Amino acid sequence: MKTDKFTIEQLSEGFFELFEDGTFKKMNPKRLSNPMDDPTLGRYSSALGIDPLLITNGDQNIVVDPGLGWGLDHKSRYDNTSNIITNLNVFGLRPQDIHHVILTHLHFDHAAGSTFVNDQFKTEATFPNAMYYVHKEEWEYALTQIEKNHDLIGADYRMDELYKLVAENRLHFIEEDEFTVVQGVKLIKTGGHTPGHMIVKITDEEKVAYFMGDLVPTEFHLNQPSHPQTVLDTAKAHQAKKLILRKAYQEKAIMYFYHSLYKKTGQLAIDEKRRYVLKDE
Ligand SMILES: [Zn+2]
Repeated sequence: MKTDKFTIEQLSEGFFELFEDGTFKKMNPKRLSNPMDDPTLGRYSSALGIDPLLITNGDQNIVVDPGLGWGLDHKSRYDNTSNIITNLNVFGLRPQDIHHVILTHLHFDHAAGSTFVNDQFKTEATFPNAMYYVHKEEWEYALTQIEKNHDLIGADYRMDELYKLVAENRLHFIEEDEFTVVQGVKLIKTGGHTPGHMIVKITDEEKVAYFMGDLVPTEFHLNQPSHPQTVLDTAKAHQAKKLILRKAYQEKAIMYFYHSLYKKTGQLAIDEKRRYVLKDE
């Protein structure tokens, strides 16, 4: 999406299978063309995309949810894989060109790309010049989850790495329900998926876009109730989702989804069966 002020690019680390034990494995996207013919898909795993967002206003560059971080570490066992750095490279941006990193929440599939292990085996911020943003409630909740056998699938945290950001004063803890990162880019706390979960709203005059984080992880979840296996407080998530989608529909907003497989972005519309659908921009 392009407005007078902003260019929004959806990045992609590819398609993955998420297994019941919380592990991720890269999958061949060809398997998605005939999911019904693939008996293993969906039985022991679910398929999902990992699609961070890049927002630029010509002056400031913002990354939202820097992904799994595969291949970032020195001597990583993941070769030739897409990650936030290879993604940014496509747009001629280096890690040092990023000014702000928004973390909708701290689950590792969203936040692990925040840091990497360098050739001295020390943790470093992936974006050396950036300020990172997380909600204070998210941080506090994540701390209570360490060494716990949590109930949600894929809900691991990598807090040791994130401590490095705290030690370097790079992690800003948001205490408000709404927080403006740069003019026109606002974080809205929704809770639900996790207590401090936030979404991103981008506004330029009449044009509006939303990055939904895990409140609405895919286009399929627009009309699907939240599942207790993946959402901590389903009632809260339902309420937040209802309010935000109603507003987004009125605003003719463009929606971006982090985990979609098929349609990753589009303008929110309602079909004849009163269901939310995505129109092409
Ligand atoms: Zn999550």
